[in-house]
Amino acid sequence: MLADNIFLKIIEGKIPARIAYQDDRCLAFHDINPQAPVHVLIIPKKVIATHADVTREDKELLGHLHVVAARLAEQLDLADGYRLVLNCKEKAGQTVPHLHMHLLGGRQMAWPPG
Ligand code: AMP
Repeated sequence: MLADNIFLKIIEGKIPARIAYQDDRCLAFHDINPQAPVHVLIIPKKVIATHADVTREDKELLGHLHVVAARLAEQLDLADGYRLVLNCKEKAGQTVPHLHMHLLGGRQMAWPPG
């Protein structure tokens, strides 16, 4: 089972995070356990538990997350490349039940991922 929604607590300001960007629809903060020199999580403020739960209503919001990711990648000096990862449910390694996009960069990435 997925753990508690700790990201909602970050959105509500109940636990601290190193915020990289926020607006009315999304929040981006540095991962507490970085897997690359740059590892930022980009999340919608709307609670969507997993990628499988997105609906047509979320189309604009998901597009917005991608635009934010591209701008953050520029600001964080990832012009030579970066990886976006979105784990959906336990089998993919999702641990927090709040849709989130990982923005990873600053080192050479391997393929295929584990
Ligand atoms: P996932 O495994 O795709 O669900 O990713 C969850 C990510 O959240 C992991 O990379 C964790 O290191 C990260 N994480 C968990 N708690 C926090 C926190 N309080 N602040 C920042 N990142 C967190």
